[in-house]
Amino acid sequence: MSYDPEQEPYVALRTKALESLLIEKGLLSAEAVDAQIRRYEQDIGPLAGARVVARAWVDAAYRQRLLEDGGAAIAELGHPTGTPLIVVENTPAVHNLVVCTLCSCYPWMILGLPPTWYKSFAYRSRAVIEPRAVLREFGLALDEAVTVQVWDSSADQRYMVLPERPAGTEDLTEEELAALVSRDAMIGVAKVAAPLAAPGPAVN
Ligand code: FE
Repeated sequence: MSYDPEQEPYVALRTKALESLLIEKGLLSAEAVDAQIRRYEQDIGPLAGARVVARAWVDAAYRQRLLEDGGAAIAELGHPTGTPLIVVENTPAVHNLVVCTLCSCYPWMILGLPPTWYKSFAYRSRAVIEPRAVLREFGLALDEAVTVQVWDSSADQRYMVLPERPAGTEDLTEEELAALVSRDAMIGVAKVAAPLAAPGPAVN
């Protein structure tokens, strides 16, 4: 994912120029920009998505509603998604991967800001052509028997992956479960890892 032939620096430069201009004209404050970024980085994502996943793991009826109408079920937890959102479920037989081949459409309303690699030309093009190779580069080697489904996001259709609940989490609370769910697992480039075994009492 390191090679990026796209004009990312140009886009970044243009954004900075625009921001500077708006600040100079008094239409925007640097504080307001920082506050918005903080809001999406810390307050919303990816914790909002993680809470949705944890709820689906502990509440079968909620999981059903989530898979039937993602936007409505997520709004139930206080996160209006705006854009229609489909939640796709990973199972032992099917692994889902989300991409936006055209640009960088992303369920930022529940996952926060997208990672840089998500916007890279390499990811956007290769996720569709050779998803298994891309997943391997993320450290996720899937069995050949597992079907990989790639979902191409757009301005009016976003996707989020409902990862598999890892084994050994039967005794965890909903909150503890949410803490295990990573952003990458909800994009589909990772699985949710089982928690490390609690350390036993020290023996001396
Ligand atoms: Fe896009």
